[in-house]
Amino acid sequence: MKVAVIGSGVWGASCAYYLNREGVDVELYDMWGPGNSRSGSGGASRIIRLAYGDDNIYTQLTNNSFKFWEKLSYDSERRLYDECGMLWLVSQDDSSYIQKSKKHIESVGHSIQEISKSDAQKKYPIINFDDINEVYFEKKAGALMASRCCKNIVRKFKEEGGSVFLGEVIVDESKLKTNAISFDGKRIDADKYIVACGPWNRKLLPKMLDDVTYISRQEVYYFSIPNDSVSKYNSKAMPCWLDLNSENPSYYGIPFHLNKGFKISYDERSTQFDPDSSERIPIPELVERTKSYLHKRFPHLKNQPISETRVCQYENSMDGNFIINYHEDNDNVLVLSGSSGHGFKLGPGLGELVKDVLINDKHIPREFDIGRLNNDNSSSQYYNAQIKYNKKKRLFN
Ligand SMILES: Cc1cc2nc3c(=O)[nH]c(=O)nc-3n(C[C@H](O)[C@H](O)[C@H](O)COP(=O)(O)OP(=O)(O)OC[C@H]3O[C@@H](n4cnc5c(N)ncnc54)[C@H](O)[C@@H]3O)c2cc1C
Repeated sequence: MKVAVIGSGVWGASCAYYLNREGVDVELYDMWGPGNSRSGSGGASRIIRLAYGDDNIYTQLTNNSFKFWEKLSYDSERRLYDECGMLWLVSQDDSSYIQKSKKHIESVGHSIQEISKSDAQKKYPIINFDDINEVYFEKKAGALMASRCCKNIVRKFKEEGGSVFLGEVIVDESKLKTNAISFDGKRIDADKYIVACGPWNRKLLPKMLDDVTYISRQEVYYFSIPNDSVSKYNSKAMPCWLDLNSENPSYYGIPFHLNKGFKISYDERSTQFDPDSSERIPIPELVERTKSYLHKRFPHLKNQPISETRVCQYENSMDGNFIINYHEDNDNVLVLSGSSGHGFKLGPGLGELVKDVLINDKHIPREFDIGRLNNDNSSSQYYNAQIKYNKKKRLFN
């Protein structure tokens, strides 16, 4: 069998890697290369954690991904995964998202534990816990070095015989029945096609995705840490963290890594974004909003300047769940879409699943079926619990 994978973000690269290992003839195409700055998988780092409320499919797929990330990290010459743990700061009244996660995390052999506020304060003296109601710690969690991960998956894929092409693939959705997918002026001949183009998916396949996905603009900041304090802000002292807050955007962060700074960002889907034409420059009001949150939560960072920023995008489905579906005009074209701001960690788990779908006739889990989006009640708990605030604030501009 020959498979053409279009897009070498973490999803496409993982699919290519798993299929190639099974002896499939795989060609992997990307406009600018794996983990490029404009892709959803670009940038330095992403959080990996198992807590997903009752949406057990994500806990399972993340657990499958861990083994891959650990091995890739071990095999690569550079560190790709830092198991520093994950701290959940619950400042809203409702901690059911974490409560529901517990049994699923335990079912894969790991744990999430409540820590008293006084113990947390002793252990993490840089955090202000005043308005936090509950604190939980996930040990099996940490940070993935995002862009590096993608490059290393593709490096392995190539080492193991896979073919990589750099440039734009043209998909003509109106002629998809005749496999109208081309590269460099020629039709790509393959038995199956995987379209995994993240925020560009809906441009390639507007008929399929226009009404069920949207692209949101996200800002990421790295703050300088005091010159004498690296040991208080790096991953030996601090885990990744997320402030579960239904009234404000849920801020989250990754401790000092890759000598960049103390990373902070927010989970909010408020402004739409065009991955080709939108400027990637932070908006002053959002910078100020983040600074005021940071100063409250990490008071010792008050007056610390920003050392680096990024503007990127989420490719969202309307309910926060992934979309994995054959195109209705051509059941040789498998579309992976809607990673919704939480898809990095699961890349390898998803790649393995797609490999089983294509060569072992495994069913695509119903959670990922595009048909569910006709039903308003299907939102993932990730979306409902963590993104409640954003749901109210989402702007379709
Ligand atoms: C700020 C931010 C923070 C995030 N935090 C987390 C986190 O902590 N944990 C987590 O798990 N996830 C997180 N995510 C989400 C995660 O990064 C994404 O879900 C994931 O990287 C999406 O990967 P992808 O492969 O679907 O898409 P992409 O990485 O966007 O890959 C798509 C690829 O397709 C290529 N392409 C597009 N069009 C064409 C074409 N016509 N021809 C050829 N190639 C093409 C592009 O060049 C690109 O490389 C975050 C995302 C952002 C933006």
